[in-house]
Amino acid sequence: MYLKLLKFSFIFFLFSINFYGQNKFEIYVGPVSGFKEPEIFEFIDLVKRAGFNSIFLPIGFSEDALKIYKYSSEKDFKIFIKIGGVPFDKNLRIAINEKGKEERLNCPIQKEVWQFLYLYTKKFFDKFKGEDFLKNIAGIYFDVERFVDADICYCDECFYSFLKSKNIKEEVKIFNRKRYLFVKNLMREYTEFERERMTDILKEIEEKIHEVNPELIISYYPLFWRKPFFPKSLFTLLMPEKFPPPLWWHFYRKSGWVSLAVIKGLGKKESPVLAWDDYYYWSGYSSDPYYPDRVKKFLRNYLGYEAWWFPSILYVTSCRFKGEFTPERAYNEYKKLVSISDYGAILYGESEKRKISLGNP
Ligand SMILES: [Zn+2]
Repeated sequence: MYLKLLKFSFIFFLFSINFYGQNKFEIYVGPVSGFKEPEIFEFIDLVKRAGFNSIFLPIGFSEDALKIYKYSSEKDFKIFIKIGGVPFDKNLRIAINEKGKEERLNCPIQKEVWQFLYLYTKKFFDKFKGEDFLKNIAGIYFDVERFVDADICYCDECFYSFLKSKNIKEEVKIFNRKRYLFVKNLMREYTEFERERMTDILKEIEEKIHEVNPELIISYYPLFWRKPFFPKSLFTLLMPEKFPPPLWWHFYRKSGWVSLAVIKGLGKKESPVLAWDDYYYWSGYSSDPYYPDRVKKFLRNYLGYEAWWFPSILYVTSCRFKGEFTPERAYNEYKKLVSISDYGAILYGESEKRKISLGNP
């Protein structure tokens, strides 16, 4: 039943998609992980016929996972594997939030938090050493939603390292730290300090990932988690072309800093990070056609080179758009996204119904 619905929806793609550039990554990610044989192979065929050339798959080490990788590779997909396993609340230093309370995630300024990226990558390539499909493994991807959704960390190590760098000798109670930084007008510097420290950690991680495979593309999401907090209509109506890049990047509100550390730390000019941007996730391209220029400019200035910016939308299977986001609209929106990005776009066909594991490591 569910497959039928997807099939029906994809018919439109099947006959309509005419991708703009053959070199762009046209990426499908989503319910491939929700099917069992033989449905999964049928579905991979469908994704292929719809015109996608790249597919995101969960990492797996089982025989079933191997079959899926092999099949996707035979279909000539560029495959990205999802590296899971961020030790959010493991036995590491815990992040302290703006209220001075412990978050259920680790302070991100620790190498141990990010080691999973190269450990799992290495494990994957070791496990399947010699397999032909490895030639089509284009990259890895991972998720920093939890970190991007959280505030900056105010743990002892973070906070006092910063004060030390400013030659400030002061004791500040844990629940007063954020206010202290604001009062002293140091919040922006603190954020930059944390961002740069995290960037340094990630540079080491990037080297280790590329020791496993120098060609691997590193991808993550989300570049951008929530919508800007100013009503875009007001600003875009008043001065559409001049509307600045997402304002919270400037104000360093919550989410920007982790994402910016990831994109800089794990990427370099020769191999930029593939940054999966959720900005259009809920609204589609037509909601704000000025955004791409702004975000590209912002990232170029920040990185000093051209970013691999990947816009994305959700497909019609998302519960949010049921009945509203038709296949035709999805097609039009996706087509626009591919055309406005220099490198490609992502279509996320999330399935809320089923999730199977391909085998945990
Ligand atoms: Zn910390």
